[in-house]
Amino acid sequence: MAESDVIVLDAPFPRVVFGAGALSRVADEAVGLGASAVLLIVDEASAVAGDRIAASLGDRLADRIDGAVMHVPVPVANAATDKARAAGVDLVVSIGGGSATGLAKAVALGTGLPILAVPTTYAGSEMTPVWGLTEAGAKRTGRDSRVRPRVVIYDPALTVSMPVGLSAASGMNAMAHLMAALFATGTAPIVPAIAEEGVRTLADALPRVVRAPGDLAARSDALYGAWLAGWTFGTGVSGLHHRLCHVLGGSYDLPHAQTHAAMLPYTTAFLAPASPAGAARAARALGGSDPAAALRDLARAIGAPTSLTEVGFDPRHIDDVAAAMGIDGIRELLVSACGPQ
Ligand code: NAD
Repeated sequence: MAESDVIVLDAPFPRVVFGAGALSRVADEAVGLGASAVLLIVDEASAVAGDRIAASLGDRLADRIDGAVMHVPVPVANAATDKARAAGVDLVVSIGGGSATGLAKAVALGTGLPILAVPTTYAGSEMTPVWGLTEAGAKRTGRDSRVRPRVVIYDPALTVSMPVGLSAASGMNAMAHLMAALFATGTAPIVPAIAEEGVRTLADALPRVVRAPGDLAARSDALYGAWLAGWTFGTGVSGLHHRLCHVLGGSYDLPHAQTHAAMLPYTTAFLAPASPAGAARAARALGGSDPAAALRDLARAIGAPTSLTEVGFDPRHIDDVAAAMGIDGIRELLVSACGPQ
């Protein structure tokens, strides 16, 4: 950091409870937040864990929403917000992937209610003040510190059921947050330091998760990497990779985590030359000297998508995406990312 630099870092850690079995702490943590009427949002894959939370909350459970839709459609957000108001809720508890966390954030955005989040994927939304809403096919995102969860409960046992394919893609989505932190400029030095730790942790954990999805130690390490990834993303780092995935996902309805996974080696190759310090940290954490090649090898090893066509993108749209991005070299990047035609 140069002597003349002024750095602002506005990224408080939420309170975190981490460990296998931590799910059983939800009710205590809700009480700690002063909650007497909870709206519980339960992703369909977490129905059993959601029932356990509901039982532990007892009379404090005011209402429950089952199911979460990717990218939080506005009508779904409005219905959830109306429910929260009607039930006089004073805390939103969510359990599930980024879509469930996203719905809780939409309620918090409209009401200012605090959130207790129990994430079950590696998306990382639980650490960030970023919200997203979709209306008429267009996704809007924004930052508001009120939507950052007040308490996050990470229970690796909940991630054991995550299918291997989703684990790999979601893990690479977390890796994309970390790479954005390594390539960002003007960040506080703690941000790339934590990001490097996250890259090293995930690169080590994801192949172990894929080899043995029930290995709780591997799941625990991967979730720790996702925690770090979410935090670094929450500091405000973003950049070309996320913008490009936003355009691709929003305009062509591509799956979120898989699109990040497919693009990451290509955007890394594109960005690394302009960020030698970030590239050096990434190489150190991934092993080898070329972070893009290392990420491609990692993606192949864990069976994550490695081309855009694999996630459903039609190469005929390359020129439209390049025009929407308006950055030199993006067309060529997309051609490579689509793989051999
Ligand atoms: P998701 O929440 O949509 O979940 C994907 C699928 O996996 C769903 O069918 C879900 O039911 C299932 N699932 C979740 N956890 C599981 C588990 N442990 N076992 C088995 N199945 C499980 O997907 P995601 O990738 O977690 O989140 C993507 C969404 O999160 C996108 O809308 C993205 O924009 C958003 N997001 C937001 C931020 C932010 O900071 N605001 C950050 C990352 C992602």
